[in-house]
Amino acid sequence: MAGKKKRPVRLCLGCRNRREKKAMVRIIRTPAGMFEVDTTGKKSGRGTYVCPETACVRKINRKNLSLALKDNLGEAEVKKIQEELLRVTNFQQEEVRYGKSSNI
Ligand SMILES: [Zn+2]
Repeated sequence: MAGKKKRPVRLCLGCRNRREKKAMVRIIRTPAGMFEVDTTGKKSGRGTYVCPETACVRKINRKNLSLALKDNLGEAEVKKIQEELLRVTNFQQEEVRYGKSSNI
């Protein structure tokens, strides 16, 4: 038994690059048919991933998100998801920028 731990990676819906799963933001379709941004990564439902970067979030559209979640999303739903993703993304980018300097 080799002890090499393989870190899970996921494909970004925006840039189509693979990244470590925990560095990405998850979008899900809940069992009730709702679409949400899952910041915990633990909610149940069909999920897809995107990098926490504005450029990637902007590449999400009705077509690729509907395909990834195997459902038919409306423009309003896609917009809502995008807005939420941008909020999460900005927050994470700020954390990276300022978080490490606060080593007291
Ligand atoms: Zn990406």
